[in-house]
Amino acid sequence: MCKVAIVKCDTYNLQNVKDAILKGINLIGCEIPKKDCVLVKPNLLMKKSPEDAVTTHPTVVQATVEIIKEKVAKVIIADSPGGPYTKKRLENIYQAAGIKVLENLENVYLNYDTSYRDLNVERSTFKKLSLISPYFESQGIINLPKLKTHQMAVFTGAVKNLFGLVPGGQKAEMHFRFQDVRRFMEMLIEIFIVAKPMLNIMDGIVAMEGEGPSAGKPKKLGILLISEDAIALDYVACKIIGLDIKDVPLLEVAKEKGLLNPDEVEIVGEMIEDVAPSSFELVLRPEISFVKGRLPQFLSRFLDSFLSPRPVFDRNICIGCAECFNACPAQAIEMKSRKAYLDLKKCIKCYCCHELCPAKAIKIKRSFLFEKILK
Ligand code: SF4
Ligand code: SF4
Repeated sequence: MCKVAIVKCDTYNLQNVKDAILKGINLIGCEIPKKDCVLVKPNLLMKKSPEDAVTTHPTVVQATVEIIKEKVAKVIIADSPGGPYTKKRLENIYQAAGIKVLENLENVYLNYDTSYRDLNVERSTFKKLSLISPYFESQGIINLPKLKTHQMAVFTGAVKNLFGLVPGGQKAEMHFRFQDVRRFMEMLIEIFIVAKPMLNIMDGIVAMEGEGPSAGKPKKLGILLISEDAIALDYVACKIIGLDIKDVPLLEVAKEKGLLNPDEVEIVGEMIEDVAPSSFELVLRPEISFVKGRLPQFLSRFLDSFLSPRPVFDRNICIGCAECFNACPAQAIEMKSRKAYLDLKKCIKCYCCHELCPAKAIKIKRSFLFEKILK
């Protein structure tokens, strides 16, 4: 049995968050082992303030760090956010996300080292995996995901958060290499198997619904989820917001690979029905999966790119920052007169542009064919 604790926590008050995390750790029966160095991995996707619910709240990061500091000699807080992996970008994001102040804590370090190293990975879809340097310096990872919707993955949580161990532009390369959603999920699971965090603490005090992972709306759920098993934790989080395994490609693949067995997930603390919101706005992909699931497999695969939602650029809102242009792995975006233009024929529907657009100028819309089918 693997345990997932659901603990209520209504506010980002530091003592309340600390008490809730400690309660969750006790409920799952986890002991923080003594270590020389641990990597704490929040979700720091982009330069956003905590109130936007895009990044893991700084209080969750601080509470975790203060709890583990008793056992860990050195704590490194690190992530490779979306876009280029540069010191300047990290500084800006730490400042905006409210975690810059944590470097004043003794033996706590924010990572500014943008180097990375290759890891030889046996029996994997990739022989070599590039990971940010703090991964190699630490003896364990504490994973701090934010509970959010995600245009491509439907849901982003503990397993997807580990994709941030891959440095900058290499994430875009992986999007291009693993264009099929299923293959992309297999790749994420392989990163999870390599990283295997020792503890996962999910910030669901204020989650994100709607157009996640960056353009959605903050949604107060008032919970923290804690587990040693990232996949089981994601499964429980999805159940809370009304998603089944079949709706979430990552969970489907994990189940097929024998890494998720719902009968072996034990929920401790609060029950799902006591914390589930009365409504939670999801992304479009589950409805497309629902339709595709009713088509013969060959037809469903053939129609995939015609049915998948497409990015639509609103040039009245576009501020010409070129974040989308720089992030697009398929080079499907052109900048003309400081406005972004999309060549839909080249688009691989990874939605990195949507994810990183600071102006929310990109919407994800149903495809023409899908609209026709619905009508
Ligand atoms: S990221 Fe958004 S605002 Fe920036 S150029 Fe692209 S569409 Fe425009
Ligand atoms: S245009 Fe957007 S969705 Fe299409 S490939 Fe580029 S980043 Fe991905």
